Amino acid sequence: MTTDVLVVGGGLVGTATAWRLAQRGLDVTVVTGDLGRAASGVAAGMLAPVTEAAFTETPLLHLNLAALDRWDGFAGELARAAGTDPGLRRHPTLSVAATPDDAARLRDLGRWLGAQGQPCQTLTSRELRSREPLVAPTVRSALLVERDWSCDNRRLWRALRLAAEAAGVRTVPGTVERVEHDDGRVTGVRLADGSGWRAGRVVLATGADAGGHDLPFALPVRPVKGQVLRLRAGAEPQLQHTVRAFSQGFEVYLVPRADGELVVGATVEDRGFDDRVTAGGVYELLRDARRVVPVSAEYELAECRAGWRPATPDNAPVLGPSPLDGLTLGVGLYRNGVLLTPLVADVLAGWVAEGVWDERAEPFRLDRFPADRPS
Ligand SMILES: Cc1cc2nc3c(=O)[nH]c(=O)nc-3n(C[C@H](O)[C@H](O)[C@H](O)COP(=O)(O)OP(=O)(O)OC[C@H]3O[C@@H](n4cnc5c(N)ncnc54)[C@H](O)[C@@H]3O)c2cc1C
Repeated sequence: MTTDVLVVGGGLVGTATAWRLAQRGLDVTVVTGDLGRAASGVAAGMLAPVTEAAFTETPLLHLNLAALDRWDGFAGELARAAGTDPGLRRHPTLSVAATPDDAARLRDLGRWLGAQGQPCQTLTSRELRSREPLVAPTVRSALLVERDWSCDNRRLWRALRLAAEAAGVRTVPGTVERVEHDDGRVTGVRLADGSGWRAGRVVLATGADAGGHDLPFALPVRPVKGQVLRLRAGAEPQLQHTVRAFSQGFEVYLVPRADGELVVGATVEDRGFDDRVTAGGVYELLRDARRVVPVSAEYELAECRAGWRPATPDNAPVLGPSPLDGLTLGVGLYRNGVLLTPLVADVLAGWVAEGVWDERAEPFRLDRFPADRPS
């Protein structure tokens, strides 16, 4: 079987890229393994370039900000193409401080963000409670981040699958065992069931599995486990903002959805592909959530899941060309894969379909890592 572009992996990145490629008139096939393994269905859905920012990751901050700028237009276009709401919520985020140490950390973060051209407003305890009455009285101050939004990633993913299908993308269940190549050029893929696809252009979008493929070059992607809870409000009042806090050195976030769901996350664990939800993980998330937003303890505990963030050595994605001609990389989106989806899909589709490279993605090519080719 032959196709113009073969996309490996049907998570957010693979599906969005396939949609964008099909819109350009290409014949596109997605081969995807178990969608239940995908981080795209586990994520909390924060679109948070600012509150996810780390002092050492300025290039990533700029990529994430550019991604957020794409969201308004992207969500509208996707809603029209899919005929369903992709779940974008333009409510601000509150990064809150419960202890003097937290307050000092937030002040430092606020100063650094100001220096990056991203001023945030500091709220006193009274200002905070008039905006978000459900935050605990023990919280002393907060940073209000107007443009850290959220999106219901499951709705988004569903909308992308519908839009891709409507644009003519073919989806084939299966596991790609080998990317085939000849004389340094990709020629197609071989699946675990023995079948094969011939394609001169292949996009690798396999999330946390990306580091395990048999390729003639090293791809430094590893799984970082995260446990996440989904709570459901009944008659209880609901949070209006995403709230993020540090509690005893660990971060907890609470991300409200329009339909009464509250996502509470997440642990960060370097444990390979361990998918167990642990008593300790659930306990700590519920404890920390209640400490920051006490009413959350009254909600129904609807779901406990674990997933794998696709991490890289510098926490930034690996995008674009690879040492194999025709093989394009869209992996390693780590903690920001939902946020980055619209921008990354455009970058990859422009590169694959037209050979146009978006300079904003230049710092995120594979060749920033030392070449470490397996023999
Ligand atoms: C706990 C947690 C919370 C998160 N919260 C956020 C958040 O708030 N905001 C945010 O922006 N991001 C968040 N993320 C990160 C985000 O979920 C990921 O970066 C993003 O979903 C990655 O999407 P992907 O399409 O690259 O990979 P995935 O969604 O993992 O999809 C990869 C797909 O590839 C398939 N596959 C793998 N190998 C093969 C193969 N050999 N052949 C065929 N198919 C294959 C898999 O079966 C899977 O379906 C979170 C992640 C986790 C785990």
